[in-house]
Amino acid sequence: MKFSIRMDRIKASGIRAVQKRIAGNDNIISFAAGLPDLALYPLEDLKAATDEMIEMEGIRAFSYGLTKGNGELLEFIVDRMNKKENVKCTKDNICVLSGSQQGIGLAGLMFIDEGDVVITENPSYLGAINAFRPYGAEFAGVDTDDDGIVIEHLEEVLNNTPEAKLMYVIPNFQNPTGKAWTLERRQKFMEVVSKHDVVVIEDNPYGEIRFRNEQLPDLKSLDKKGQVVYLGSFSKILSPGMRVAWMCAEPKVASMAEELKETNDLQSPEITQMIVAYYMKMFDLEEHIREIQETYKHRADLMIKMIERYFPKEIKYTKPDGGMFLWLELPEGLDSDKILDDAVNAGVAYIPGESFFAHEGVKNTVRMNFTMVNDDQIREGIKILGEVFKKYI
Ligand code: PMP
Repeated sequence: MKFSIRMDRIKASGIRAVQKRIAGNDNIISFAAGLPDLALYPLEDLKAATDEMIEMEGIRAFSYGLTKGNGELLEFIVDRMNKKENVKCTKDNICVLSGSQQGIGLAGLMFIDEGDVVITENPSYLGAINAFRPYGAEFAGVDTDDDGIVIEHLEEVLNNTPEAKLMYVIPNFQNPTGKAWTLERRQKFMEVVSKHDVVVIEDNPYGEIRFRNEQLPDLKSLDKKGQVVYLGSFSKILSPGMRVAWMCAEPKVASMAEELKETNDLQSPEITQMIVAYYMKMFDLEEHIREIQETYKHRADLMIKMIERYFPKEIKYTKPDGGMFLWLELPEGLDSDKILDDAVNAGVAYIPGESFFAHEGVKNTVRMNFTMVNDDQIREGIKILGEVFKKYI
């Protein structure tokens, strides 16, 4: 069998490797997950929405629909973008996606030619880096600090790669670091990129899981030239298994996405789009989101408290205001992948941070998930991890 060159570029996921290592071991306390808490899916309400939807829509729910998306759902999305995200848009700007992951892939198809440089934050979402690789992308990373993307470095990277067409960023509670950009960084970022002919993918699956401080404007709402392609998703606020998400972009880009999507999966399942639309009609999504925020806030705060108590002082950590992750920086010279063996033997797992960098090398970082663990697991797991780290410091 002769596979395409693209297959050589696919890189094994570091996350899957860890999950394989701990599979079947129920006693491990895992901070390695990347999922919303199952217990927070509004099962009863989703059941009621599904029943009502099938009652009303009948066999239409099981049929093909339009590639662009279900009409009623599109209206909800437009309304949400206008009111909640302060982005002026109509249905012409929207294309429903089978998960924002599909939007990342479609952006790759649309904007990456062989050898093109894609600019990302350093580190960034592994699923995006790996989605861009098969198209022949090279990567240039921009550093982040506690306030978000570092503007001076962004300018340097943009000036050094004038041919770059695509940039991918996660300004809210990034996967993997949990960092969010300040208002000033968002404004400066838009000022800088507007001087370049570069498309910005703003991936925002965690924006609504803010559990502290005020919502800050999306890049899309500050976008005067139409260069931002916004990706939103119901995965973290309702259910990831329904695979319902959306792109909000210039009409030309949204309709190109629709054309590409047609060749990709024809459409997102009508049935799950309708469930989301009926759920939004019948129930208060905002109230549900508040419940998610409260639960995750509690877990994030507890994890930080335990880190303060049990981790050696040399370890730095982020204090996220939202999302699902926090990020550790161990003293330089330590290799979190090697330490993982000891951690797993002691009963705890995490994701070594190296896989989130497009280029290899940063070995002393760790991604910690706080959404899939209960209070006891957080207390116990962080204490154990503190002991493991102490042996190395
Ligand atoms: N972007 C980021 C930053 C993510 O963390 C994830 C999921 N882990 C996705 C996109 C994919 O989400 P979806 O379920 O909407 O495809």
